[in-house]
Amino acid sequence: MRLVLVGPPGAGKGTQAEIIAERLGVPKISTGDIFRANVSGGTPLGLKAKEYMDAGNLVPDEVTNDMVADRLAEDDAKGGFLLDGYPRNTEQAKVLDRVLEAAGATLDLALELVASDDEVVRRLSGRRVSKSTGKVYHLEFDPPADPDSEDLYQRSDDQPETIKNRLKVYAEQTAPLVGYYEGQGKLVRIDAIGEVAEVTERALNAIGAAE
Ligand code: ADP
Ligand code: ADP
Repeated sequence: MRLVLVGPPGAGKGTQAEIIAERLGVPKISTGDIFRANVSGGTPLGLKAKEYMDAGNLVPDEVTNDMVADRLAEDDAKGGFLLDGYPRNTEQAKVLDRVLEAAGATLDLALELVASDDEVVRRLSGRRVSKSTGKVYHLEFDPPADPDSEDLYQRSDDQPETIKNRLKVYAEQTAPLVGYYEGQGKLVRIDAIGEVAEVTERALNAIGAAE
């Protein structure tokens, strides 16, 4: 299955993508994770992306689109994939359609995770990530064994001012994607409020992958 996840920052895309991709047996491709790995590795791509990410703005399309096209050309993505965090504007969605078409493939579905601003702010503010494993926790909703562990960090863009800008960028640039996929008859929408397992069940039902 070829699937993209759409939803505001903090809606739980990364959390669900991990579980759903494993269930579907397809690679999870998260543009945010790829950018962050490049930033911490100090690569040229990371250097280009960092200032945008720190401000909570989108990295320019030409950088992002090439990076995703390269990743989709890898063997493990040929039979299907779950994209988390891409596309993030209508132009990226059109490029994705063209990249797939050139490879003789099409996108199956876009899954939208719906959550209110209040809820995503709560989720982003409490998000903590393990340096050693990359696992994502929440101080309240999925607490790590030791919340004071040196191994945990808070993403630099999960600060109140940056969160505010990311929500604005989502509303202005990313939300229109929903209409784009609706127009293609590919949109499925689920409520992202509730326990992680409940949301997963809704997602699997919505994409027709429930057991
Ligand atoms: P979130 O958890 O808010 O959904 P991500 O980890 O997906 O965040 O993205 C973090 C940052 O990486 C974004 O704010 C943006 O700067 C950059 N980024 C990720 N994906 C894209 C994309 N498809 N286009 C442009 N920038 C992106
Ligand atoms: P996104 O990739 O959309 O930015 P994440 O998957 O990183 O979102 O989730 C954001 C934060 O919310 C994380 O701290 C995560 O542990 C937490 N979270 C994810 N799903 C839920 C849920 N269903 N209920 C409560 N907290 C959640």
